[in-house]
Amino acid sequence: MMKTIRQNIEEVRKRIANVAESVGRSPDEVTLVAVTKFRTPEEITQAAAAGVKTFGENRVQEAKAKVHLLPEGISWHMIGHLQTNKAKDAVALFECIHSLDSIHLADEVEKRCAAADKTMDVLLEVNVSGEESKYGLRPDDMEGVVQHVIALPHLHLKGLMTMAPFVDDPETVRPVFRGLRELRDRINEAGICRLTDLSMGMTQDYEVAIQEGATIVRIGSAIFNV
Ligand SMILES: *Cc1c(COP(=O)(O)O)cnc(C)c1O
Repeated sequence: MMKTIRQNIEEVRKRIANVAESVGRSPDEVTLVAVTKFRTPEEITQAAAAGVKTFGENRVQEAKAKVHLLPEGISWHMIGHLQTNKAKDAVALFECIHSLDSIHLADEVEKRCAAADKTMDVLLEVNVSGEESKYGLRPDDMEGVVQHVIALPHLHLKGLMTMAPFVDDPETVRPVFRGLRELRDRINEAGICRLTDLSMGMTQDYEVAIQEGATIVRIGSAIFNV
C-alpha cells in the first residue's frame, strides 16, 4: 500500500536523525526542505500539517502560482536556477535563495531587496563536480564572489549549496559533498566570513550528505511518493 505523505515525512525524519547521530551530530543541525515542484497545494498542505516548515521550489513561475494558496507561517526557499529577470518576483516570494551563481545575479537580487526593504538569506551554488551541464560557481572563483556578496547590505550569506550528479550509488557522490564542506571550511579559515550552511543531499543521497556535514537537505520524491 502506498504510504501517506505524513508517514513518508516521519520516515525521512527518522532516517535524518539516525544518520546524524551515527556521525555524532545533532539531528537539530539538519533542516528538512520539502521540495514541492510539480506538487499540488493539497499535497503541500499535507506536508505542512505533518510539521514541515520549509519548502523549496525550483521555478519562480510555479512558486508564484502556489505560495499564496498555502497556509501562512511556512517559509519558501528558491532552490533552482534563477534568471536575473525573475529576481524581483523571487525577492517577493522567498526567504532564502540557495542558487546564487553569479555576481551579476547577486547584484540584481541586492537591488531588488533594497527596493523592497528586505534582507535575503542566500547560499552560493557551487559546481563542485565540474560537470558542464550544471549551474554553479567554480570552486576557484569562490573567494572573489564571497568577498563581493558579503559587501552587499541586503544579502545575508549563510553558506554553500551544491547539486550532486545523478548516480545509482550515493557513495559515488560522497567526494562532491566532502568537497563542498572543505570549501566552506577553507573560506572560514581564511577569515573572510563565517559560513555555516551546507545545502546538499536529495532523496537519493541525503544520508551520505548528512554524514559529510549537510545542514540543509532538499527532499522531494521520498516525501511525495514520486
Ligand atoms: C527536485 C530537486 C530536489 C529534490 O529532488 P528529489 O530527488 O525529488 O528529492 C532537490 N534540489 C533541487 C535543486 C531540485 O530541483
